[in-house]
Amino acid sequence: MTNILVTGGAGYIGSHACKVLKAAGYTPVTFDNISTGWEEAVKFGPLEVGDLLDRARLDEVFTKWQPAAVMHFAALSQVGEAMREPGMYWRNNVSGSLNLIEATVAAGCKHFVFSSTCATFGDQDGVVLDENSAQMPLNAYGASKRAIEDMLKDFEFSHGLQSVIFRYFNVAGADPEGEVGEFHQPETHLIPLMLDAIEGKRGELTVFGTDYDTPDGTCIRDYVHVMDLVAAHVKGIEWLAADKGSRVFNLGTGTGFSVREVLTHSQSVTNRPVPHVEGPRRAGDAQCLVSGSSRAQSELGWKPTRSTLETMIKDAWRWHQNGHYDK
Ligand code: UDP
Repeated sequence: MTNILVTGGAGYIGSHACKVLKAAGYTPVTFDNISTGWEEAVKFGPLEVGDLLDRARLDEVFTKWQPAAVMHFAALSQVGEAMREPGMYWRNNVSGSLNLIEATVAAGCKHFVFSSTCATFGDQDGVVLDENSAQMPLNAYGASKRAIEDMLKDFEFSHGLQSVIFRYFNVAGADPEGEVGEFHQPETHLIPLMLDAIEGKRGELTVFGTDYDTPDGTCIRDYVHVMDLVAAHVKGIEWLAADKGSRVFNLGTGTGFSVREVLTHSQSVTNRPVPHVEGPRRAGDAQCLVSGSSRAQSELGWKPTRSTLETMIKDAWRWHQNGHYDK
């Protein structure tokens, strides 16, 4: 069996990636410090508890499992927190990734799949964003991810490390089979907060900003289903195994939805109103982030099949009602 080291395999996206890796015949070895993830989410391969800031522990895990490739999901990823505590983002994301990349190279592993983000682009007046768009992050989260992208280019030049970089737009939904799903503590993402508000689990949802220069005044995002997103990662591993070289791919559908449109869809999928209030803008938010790229589709052969807003909300709703890791 081919081992893939999955950092952040206990988290939302990483746990879904482990599921599809196993289904594709790989052994996903999770490396996670369980700070924001869940041990119960590691269901598809072994768990190695460890921190990216601990280089010796990383070396130990590389020696034990000899992975053919690394999939690097582990990161702090909340824009609001990044605005308050930028040091945490530079330390954990950038120093942690540097340790991981150095350990990868030291172990003789040459293939690296990295989860980057459309937050590296910043706000570009509604321009659709492709892989060549300028990267002008608005917050330490996006800046930390851009720095890691730069690091990968340097390590390719000097050490021959081949990387596939995926820039995610807004990831949503859950495993339709209900084995894993989205569960953050604290939760900051729109769709799970909306579902919580519908169920009365927390107060009303606050719509962050209604005075943006968009048709209905709220921010626009490009939502992609987590199962579609992780399917691209398996293709990324195959791309590297076929020696096709380093490449950046945006992962979005090219269709943007405003916060109000997500609210309306959530109401129709769940048949329940979303209790909400309108509030001020959230610092660090871009007005509009939509992917203008079909590179992943044309070059990787990626075909999103579940990324309609309705299916994403339906799958998230099913998970939300049935499966939480704290139960
Ligand atoms: N949002 C909102 N209320 C919330 C959480 C999010 O209005 O309680 C908005 C947020 O301002 C953004 C969109 O929903 O425009 C998506 O935010 P999320 O945090 O889910 O993802 P991000 O775009 O920050 O990665």
